[in-house]
Amino acid sequence: MNASGKVTTEHRARHAYLYVRQSSLRQVHENRESTARQYDLKRRAQALGWTSDQIVVIDEDLGQSGASAAGRNGFQRLVAEVGLGRVGLVMGLEVSRLARSSTDWHRLLEICALAETLILDEDGIYDPSHFNDRLLLGLKGAMSEAELHVLRARLIGGQLNKARRGELWMRPPLGFASDPEGRMILDPDRQIQGAVRALFETFRRTGSAMRVVRHFSTEGIRWPRRIPTGPRAGEIVWGPLDHSRVLGILHNPRYTGAFVYGRTRQRKTVIGDQVRYRRLKQEEWTVFLPNAHEGYISWEEFESNQAKLIGNAHGYGADRRKSPARDGAALLQGLVLCGVCGLRLTVRYHTTHGRPISDYVCQRRGIQTAQPLCQRLPGDRIDDAVAAVVLKAVNPASLDVALEVFEELRRRQAEVDRLRRAQVDRAREEAELAQRQYLLARPENRLVVDSLERHWNEKLSSLRQLEDEYARWSKNQQSPVTEQDQERIRKLVSDLPRVWNDPRTPVRDRKRMLRLLIEDVTLVRSETIQIHIRWKGGATTSVQQPLPILLPDQVRTPVAIIEQVRALATEQTDAQIARTLNARWLRSGRDHSFTRVIVRHIRTTYGIRSYIDHLRSQGWLTAPEIAAQMGVHFTTAKRFAAEGVLHAVRADDRGRILFEPPGGSVPRAHPGKRLRDRRRYPQLASKSDERGAV
Ligand SMILES: [Zn+2]
Repeated sequence: MNASGKVTTEHRARHAYLYVRQSSLRQVHENRESTARQYDLKRRAQALGWTSDQIVVIDEDLGQSGASAAGRNGFQRLVAEVGLGRVGLVMGLEVSRLARSSTDWHRLLEICALAETLILDEDGIYDPSHFNDRLLLGLKGAMSEAELHVLRARLIGGQLNKARRGELWMRPPLGFASDPEGRMILDPDRQIQGAVRALFETFRRTGSAMRVVRHFSTEGIRWPRRIPTGPRAGEIVWGPLDHSRVLGILHNPRYTGAFVYGRTRQRKTVIGDQVRYRRLKQEEWTVFLPNAHEGYISWEEFESNQAKLIGNAHGYGADRRKSPARDGAALLQGLVLCGVCGLRLTVRYHTTHGRPISDYVCQRRGIQTAQPLCQRLPGDRIDDAVAAVVLKAVNPASLDVALEVFEELRRRQAEVDRLRRAQVDRAREEAELAQRQYLLARPENRLVVDSLERHWNEKLSSLRQLEDEYARWSKNQQSPVTEQDQERIRKLVSDLPRVWNDPRTPVRDRKRMLRLLIEDVTLVRSETIQIHIRWKGGATTSVQQPLPILLPDQVRTPVAIIEQVRALATEQTDAQIARTLNARWLRSGRDHSFTRVIVRHIRTTYGIRSYIDHLRSQGWLTAPEIAAQMGVHFTTAKRFAAEGVLHAVRADDRGRILFEPPGGSVPRAHPGKRLRDRRRYPQLASKSDERGAV
């Protein structure tokens, strides 16, 4: 190629940029000499007429792979300089590798063509503004991208094939180890196995990852962790168990003994080189071989654990957090949930006649999305009902069950004790080993002796710490419940109602007592108030309370009037009742004369049926119904009524008319009714047969 023909004085007046890149991938496939070869290019530029101070070397990208320009300052700087027209020549070893992504490469080519910048690699010199050169350079870029793709496909393909056979070696999760043949086995270290089993066992019992963490922390059980990299790689260190680790283990199907590959998928984000991982559903996993080796739990248990964890995630959203006991009068503050939408209810106080009244209100969604209140429930009534249930539940008879539970707890405590003793024993063994190593070292070798001594001291102090912890823990452990204790507990329990009802007991204390026993209370308002109590242990109790009668009516409407309304409602509409009551010189609770509205209010409050409902329950028919039965138009039926052929009455204040069923007042569901109808209206028989078939 005629190099001198392409290089002009104008090119030589500008800088020559040498782009040095040696990514980790290249280091694998080529030798380290490439850096030296890249610097050889510098000499060629000098031969073409550039002075050495005109040559700029960019090697910021050293050690970075060239798959994308994002995050690579060196490449971007090069593009910027070319664009500004300051560059006469770009040099690189196999220039197409300047940029591994085709788009980056073509952009550079275009800018070089516009700025009339030459490109030089080991094969020769190119002018991107010439079509043939640009075609060649474009091909080089495409080939280089293809090469990267093929390389990756070959690597991943090999891995995938191994995984499909279940032979791909992956770092065993904690609690597993690989045997000399590379098969997965349970970790031979008994203590590690014990810790993993304790984790699953605790979750089985408590059903919550958080409680597992709490259990390990309060019982002081340490959790093993394998150091993944560095000089101490593979070593086990013991420390506190954290929540994310529990979740990681509970979500990991490999603990069932399954071989699993491809549980996550990675994808690049638009911005930069960030990689996001997404957890896939089980049916999307690349490889799933159940029962490939021994496991800690069954597949069924794994699945039920997943379901539990999902349930918990709903239960512990921001809204569902319990709030601590505060001073307000509402006993269940912070414990009540809405049975309709599942959100936590809030307490609203208002004063009526100087008395604080509390309501449980579901208003969160209403506040957030401006919808009407979901439900509002009377506080006092619910508080009393729950208190009654609690006092009834905590009685000497239920106590015997509790004492049995104590026994179970003690058994678990023994298990924890075993794990903790193992921890101390292990620390002691390690200290003894360190001591032996120290004693065996030659005293001449000062450095070694010093470090061994330090090591021994560390082990001794950690042993001492563990022993102290163990002693402290054992001292705090509950001793078994003696006869005397049982007697004392029984007495306490029988005292509870007295303490509870004592007016000197502050509300806050009552709330705390309640919180010891109750997890939460779910309320639903329908025809009655349904109260579902969830106890600490997970058991539930449901009770019902009638809806409250509004306070004003409760005190104001005299019972005698209510009874009169009840009696009159069987033969009069609300307006008629009001007239009757007024005629008897009676007055309402507020000393008003009665109106249709007041009567209706009294009726609905005390559950008294209206006249029309009463008649309907007696089998009375509407005009269309009786017209259909008789096979006439309903205006005809009305005329019959007006002429006295049929018996009809005005059943409500809007003027609706009900007809007495032919044959007198009988309940509609009466089995003999239809027969009688047919006898009376023979022409209707065929029609009612059709209906009867329905
Ligand atoms: Zn609600």
